[in-house]
Amino acid sequence: MNFDFQSYGITRDQFAELLSTTDSLLLQTLYAEARAARNRVYGNKVFMRGLVEISSYCKNNCLYCGLRRDNGLAVRYRLEPLQILQCCDKGYALGFRTFVLQGGEDPWFTDERLIPIVQELHRRHPDCAITLSLGERSYESYKALREAGAERYLLRHETANENHYAQLHPVEMSFSHRMQCLSHLKALGYQVGCGFMVGSPGQTISTLYEDIQFVHHFQPAMVGIGPFIPASGTPLEQYLYDASVPESIANTVDVTLRLLAIIRLLHPRVLLPATTALATLHPQGREMGLQSGANVVMPNLSPIESRSKYSIYNNKASLGNEGAEAAEATRRQLGKIGFDASPDRGDMV
Ligand code: SAH
Ligand code: SF4
Repeated sequence: MNFDFQSYGITRDQFAELLSTTDSLLLQTLYAEARAARNRVYGNKVFMRGLVEISSYCKNNCLYCGLRRDNGLAVRYRLEPLQILQCCDKGYALGFRTFVLQGGEDPWFTDERLIPIVQELHRRHPDCAITLSLGERSYESYKALREAGAERYLLRHETANENHYAQLHPVEMSFSHRMQCLSHLKALGYQVGCGFMVGSPGQTISTLYEDIQFVHHFQPAMVGIGPFIPASGTPLEQYLYDASVPESIANTVDVTLRLLAIIRLLHPRVLLPATTALATLHPQGREMGLQSGANVVMPNLSPIESRSKYSIYNNKASLGNEGAEAAEATRRQLGKIGFDASPDRGDMV
């Protein structure tokens, strides 16, 4: 197979073969090519982002998510503006130069409340990149936040197939609006991250092929992909993949690694996190992600007492290596496997 997907694209057949093959030599080549592609652009650097989970309230009802509005089991909290700034100060001292403020779509965080937080964060740490991941907002809101100092925005497209989108979301949420938000963010000059879960109900090799074609065409600065993990109290809590659908996704960790490698080869300059969901499902998930072409890790900077409440899915890893307190240990550990945990902001080159 010719692995230069950036120049030649990847056909549906090649894609299906890479996702389903049991040929270990082919897989080893895929991962080696992905690592080489990453190394040509970023060397052995791994960028660390400090994640602050600012609110577990959400007005939306995405079927898969533990924070969905109707989940009576969800424990809700919201960080005070001062707490958010303190988390970032702590992260700065630990060496982080990118902060990611993520949360449910919490109506409390109006522009009037959010803008001063972003401005103050930017004033305190002008050498840091501020990333937001707060869901769908208006063009005006994205614009005002950009002007306040936010430079990056993570909004996973979740799936590039409209019917699949409708299977995962309630009727009041629309694929076209999600896509419109992504194009607004791009037009406003944000470094935009899209992404999707692996193994979500209804996902097939065909829908995944649409996802990677979307990535190829959208040219995001970042792609967040991680396994779908059922969340208690959601309509999908009992979900098991449907073995009668030949194309359905069973081994989500394995498929996530293959997709990381394919995306790296398709878009070599992209920033690709080894996600917490991957680390949650496999004790070596983070390292395996990096060995498959990822080059970003996002340790958790949220106050320890709120971490278990930000329960997007069950048993989410947030301590140990997923905790930002362990930044030094993480650096050492990454060093042992040949990576250099970079103090840089880590912009896409
Ligand atoms: N509210 C914002 C950001 C928080 S959710 C938003 O929706 O964009 C961040 C991501 O978590 C989502 O984009 C989704 O892809 C992922 N996620 C939600 N539920 C999940 C689950 N059960 N398993 C794995 N990932 C999940
Ligand atoms: Fe809310 Fe995001 Fe979860 Fe959807 S995925 S319910 S928008 S937190």
